[in-house]
Amino acid sequence: MILEHFKRKKYKPAKHINIQPNYIEKCPKCENMVFKDDIDLSKKVCPHCGNYFSMSAKERIESVIEKDSFVEYFKEKKIRDPLNFPKYRDKQEKLRTSLKQDEAVVCGTGKINNNKVVIAAMDTNFMMGSMGTTVGEKITKTIELSIKKKLPLIIFSASGGARMQEGMFSLMQMAKTSQAIGKLSKNNLLFISIMTNPTTGGVSASFASLGDIMIAEKGALIGFAGPRVIQQVTGTVLPEGFQRAEFLLDHGLVDMVVTRENMKYTLDNILKIHLKNKKRGILR
Ligand SMILES: [Zn+2]
Repeated sequence: MILEHFKRKKYKPAKHINIQPNYIEKCPKCENMVFKDDIDLSKKVCPHCGNYFSMSAKERIESVIEKDSFVEYFKEKKIRDPLNFPKYRDKQEKLRTSLKQDEAVVCGTGKINNNKVVIAAMDTNFMMGSMGTTVGEKITKTIELSIKKKLPLIIFSASGGARMQEGMFSLMQMAKTSQAIGKLSKNNLLFISIMTNPTTGGVSASFASLGDIMIAEKGALIGFAGPRVIQQVTGTVLPEGFQRAEFLLDHGLVDMVVTRENMKYTLDNILKIHLKNKKRGILR
């Protein structure tokens, strides 16, 4: 009888339900409804399928840095719009107010257990984490801070690529940030690059791929152009899992794939080994 009832009523899957965005969110992978409080409690991991919800820059920093040890640097007051691109200034202003954040990257210093580090985390909530002049400048300054303070550098990347609204100026940030990483390397300082979902375009083709240790978060999409573009240009069928973290590990592009739950533990271990060897004089 009940079955009959459902047959007649036609059951609607979750994707058709009108969601109350303030309290509940739909998992993009399993399409189950999850209370926002539960998502926060589980460190942005879906309790049904283990999928990762995207993290803001601040949440990312909080997930690895000791409480109250984070000091933010290079907060930008100025809004840049070098090409006077239509509506670009307004968009930035709105995002600054709603996210309470100046740009698509948050930078500073903090401690992972007892080890002090310089850290930056990108944020896809701010124009898909795209890299314009302000993001490029903030990342470069963060790298230089690491050189000045002689501290290891950690960058969490999450980006759709270059900021289209700033055209050529955005592309110049690729060379600028890469050059700064070169300087960091000459100073014998450690750079741990963590690529999270998604790390693509100009960010993947510059500083994010220049880590001494390359970490990819489990399941992250990492690549330059998207799979659809590659498929259309080359006329080939791409293999399963193409451009995912695990695929990149199999093909030698990253050193390790780490789950979100193990990220802090992994970073702590790398820092301990690195600093111990540096003290012993094994590393210069
Ligand atoms: Zn799920």
